[in-house]
Amino acid sequence: MSSMTTTSSTAPVPNPPRALTDRRGILFIISAPSGTGKTTLCKQLTANLPNLWQSVSYTTRKPRPGEEHGREYYFTDEQLFQEMIERSEFVEWARVYGNLYGTPWKLLAEKIERNIDVLLEIDVQGAIQVRKRFEDSVSIFILPPSITVLRSRLETRGSDSPEEIQARLQKVKEEVWSYRDYTYIVQNDDLTRSQRDLESIFWSERLKTERLNMTWIENNFILDGERKS
Ligand code: ADP
Ligand code: 5GP
Repeated sequence: MSSMTTTSSTAPVPNPPRALTDRRGILFIISAPSGTGKTTLCKQLTANLPNLWQSVSYTTRKPRPGEEHGREYYFTDEQLFQEMIERSEFVEWARVYGNLYGTPWKLLAEKIERNIDVLLEIDVQGAIQVRKRFEDSVSIFILPPSITVLRSRLETRGSDSPEEIQARLQKVKEEVWSYRDYTYIVQNDDLTRSQRDLESIFWSERLKTERLNMTWIENNFILDGERKS
């Protein structure tokens, strides 16, 4: 029951919700084997969907050509990263393909409090940690069409050495095994179709009854004028 129904008829309502969607931000997690297309899809999602912010992680990996500090990642060294772990500055962190990656707390918490939805593009180990901390988070696993297509996407992207590509392909079985822990699965075959599937998940989650502001509904449709004050 919301606090509205227990308020006395003369007491003013403190900061009544302004809209049905006046609620805390939703935490969306996207994971996929490297080369599947999650970076491409996440960029399109943040460009197309209003009120969605993508978190920028810290990593000890070296920047790839074209990557910028503060845009794709905050590039840092192992010692600074360890200090951040000790200061509990990460929501989650993990070692992936030999490098450390972590999601910083500060901006994420601010966005959620300000009703802005947050998108995390993180690996399966990070997703486990976030799901434990945020039980109402929504996780989406992106599958490539096949291992052959995945290999060719990694080769076409041209950002990893043959050894790195091999290491990434070797991890696929382990990563895909985690699919059952995710709320949704989207196969990234045709980019337009995958984008449509992803956007429909985001819009549907935003409209779930449990996430909407029931106080607003009661205030506007159920309680009489006197009680609304
Ligand atoms: P990830 O972030 O999962 O490692 P990327 O977004 O970097 O993957 O995509 C890997 C490569 O595959 C890029 O060259 C990208 O342009 C290409 N790609 C992504 N999605 C598709 C798709 N649906 N069809 C064909 N190529 C794609
Ligand atoms: P890449 O080096 O290709 O950008 O990313 C390698 C892997 O690290 C991807 O699976 C990506 O999702 C994951 N990753 C990126 N940022 C984070 C993070 O903050 N935490 C975790 N756990 N994984 C991350």
